[in-house]
Amino acid sequence: MRRPFVVLLAALALPAVALAQGDSTPAPDPIAQLVARLDLERYKATIKGLTNFGDRRQGTDRNRAAVDWIEAQLRSYGCSNVSRLKYEYRPASSPSPAGRGGQGVRTDERGGQGVRPPAGGGRYRGIRAQTGVNTDSLKQPDARLRALDAQASTPGEREEVYCTKIGTTHPGEMYIVGGHMDGIGWGEAANDDGSGTALVMELARVFSGPDVRTDHSIRFILWNNEETGLNGSRAYVEQRRALQGTKDEPKWLGMIQHDMMLFDHGMPRADGTLPPEQRPEADVNIEFQSSAKFAAEAEQLAWTFERANEKYATDYPASVGSHMTNTDSAPFQDYVPAISLRENERGTQIGAGWDPNWHQPTDLYATYSDNDFRLGLNAAQTTLGAIAGLVGATIK
Ligand SMILES: [Zn+2]
Repeated sequence: MRRPFVVLLAALALPAVALAQGDSTPAPDPIAQLVARLDLERYKATIKGLTNFGDRRQGTDRNRAAVDWIEAQLRSYGCSNVSRLKYEYRPASSPSPAGRGGQGVRTDERGGQGVRPPAGGGRYRGIRAQTGVNTDSLKQPDARLRALDAQASTPGEREEVYCTKIGTTHPGEMYIVGGHMDGIGWGEAANDDGSGTALVMELARVFSGPDVRTDHSIRFILWNNEETGLNGSRAYVEQRRALQGTKDEPKWLGMIQHDMMLFDHGMPRADGTLPPEQRPEADVNIEFQSSAKFAAEAEQLAWTFERANEKYATDYPASVGSHMTNTDSAPFQDYVPAISLRENERGTQIGAGWDPNWHQPTDLYATYSDNDFRLGLNAAQTTLGAIAGLVGATIK
């Protein structure tokens, strides 16, 4: 019975130590200070900058120009070791038409007769609306944007850009923070995924501040070719997984993806339309994949992010789900703890028509209100807060 006694003594001694130091004002939380360097107007301006390149479809001049622009921004933030991953993309066949949910279909408790289960697992609940990819240029009423998005994709070499915050004590270990810069649908791909791309760029900016120090490294990467089947992130895993632990590639500690951050207006109404305003209960959805080899570790990581949201996000809460799917964290999920942050759950909600602008000509900067943009900012606060804690961030 000696050990509990010693522990009790130590616990009792703690307040005395604090008093002896005479420190009445607690030291400022460096993580809160870093989170405060995020700003709604800056986040919106970065999304707006990305929409200058239209839908940024992979394999086009507008996509290549967007990669150049992103690289220039990362350099201007002072982010270290700006690099590009190169790979070939040659589609085997033309993309098949996307699945249809139907207009205002109510799914019964078993998910509806003949209804395929949601991607990534889980169950559809309530009313579903139509989803799909717009491939019709004439559905874009803005002639300027129609022209900007007109050049077709051609097969060949692709590039995606990344930069790295180098850790002071553990430079050879890193978290990977990503979003995808390519889009589709004859709009501006403002939400899918300008919103996640801008989030990653904003975090690169904050962590690259000259007074910011971290123990571990952080890689910020803007994937290309997500919309064609996660080809950019798959290429990264294929080319670099075996290099981990060498001078060319830090060991991966975790991968955090951001894909569609703005729009949480709730379930479709019976007529298939969506409420026009962000719902007051809007939340950031943090998902891991329960079938992944690293499911248990990914779930822990997800809850670490949930706690960071509770502590650092200014407006919207976070929810944890187990069906991460259809985004660039998937190629990592069997090698490292991997999670995604989104406006809604990808399979059961976005897949059920909760985002009417998804892959549509209406995915425009002008479509979203500040209540929408603020959900993306809250996801940025969540990831910044969580990652800053995980890498031991301090301010000089
Ligand atoms: Zn996306």
